[in-house]
Amino acid sequence: MELTWEPTDADRELFERELDGFVPDRIYDVHAHLYELWQWKKPTILEGGPEKLPLERYQEEIRWITPGRKTHGLFFGGGLHEETFRASNEYIAAQVAKDPASRSLLIVSPHMDPEEVRQEVRRLSMVGLKVYQHFAPGEETWEAEIEEFLTEEHVRVAHEEELVIMLHMVKSRALADPVNQATIRRYCETWPKMRLVLAHSGTAFNPHHTAEGIHSLAGIDNVWFDTSAMTEAGAFEPIVRQFGHERLMWGSDYPISHLRGRCVAIGDNHVWLYENNVDWGNLSYRRIQPVFLGLESLRALKTAAWNLRLSNSQVEDVFWTNARRLLRLE
Ligand SMILES: [Zn+2]
Repeated sequence: MELTWEPTDADRELFERELDGFVPDRIYDVHAHLYELWQWKKPTILEGGPEKLPLERYQEEIRWITPGRKTHGLFFGGGLHEETFRASNEYIAAQVAKDPASRSLLIVSPHMDPEEVRQEVRRLSMVGLKVYQHFAPGEETWEAEIEEFLTEEHVRVAHEEELVIMLHMVKSRALADPVNQATIRRYCETWPKMRLVLAHSGTAFNPHHTAEGIHSLAGIDNVWFDTSAMTEAGAFEPIVRQFGHERLMWGSDYPISHLRGRCVAIGDNHVWLYENNVDWGNLSYRRIQPVFLGLESLRALKTAAWNLRLSNSQVEDVFWTNARRLLRLE
């Protein structure tokens, strides 16, 4: 199948059937990207989507997965490369300035001078840093150690300025990797005024890694998790069991939310199933109609909330209050 970029009846019906009674009226989306496509560089799965994604387009299209809801958010760019991240930061600052209730993060390269990081955050009125493993040395960066793309000097600045840091850790076993665990604890304990958000539920692409590793973070006061792009309830449940529901925040990972498919665990790995890399027509004896990944993520969160017996007000916290407290908007 070709990549598509539009809502279908299957999306609308799934939301009405399974999610309309679950998703609260107010949403703070703690993980979303705005960009112009060139900022991602090289071929990207996002090429099926628009060339430009300004705030207005986000506000319109986030309703494809949360119809009728009022949404603000924490945004960052798509500039994953030394050549594009500065332009991406300028773009984000200009977009987020349009909504007084939304906030943004500065993409930083590990090569930046710490004082420049401090000045850029201030100049662009941002509330924290977003780091990407793509900035680590070498061609193959999926096994990079956290220090290779989030330097301790940048964490120190985040502590001094009381900033949020959004970290998508890598390595094949993610939160189950003892090297990742040790760095997260060391950074959080050494720099307690920095607030660390572990994206994708602590990189729960394989949820068993988060389940296995979550205990290693016990007792850390300045770590949070977002739900972004995770489509299995097992990604969320260990976090709530270990830290309580206050540390979990809903994030769409827009535009990833608007691709069709799921991220599923297989063995000790995971695989992203998308429209264009699976032969959906021959996969099953029934016709498969994949829906937005963001809808899959919402129903996984609903399952987790059910399994954990979260109350309606606790669910509202996950969608709104927890992020507002993290960002000191409450
Ligand atoms: Zn993201």
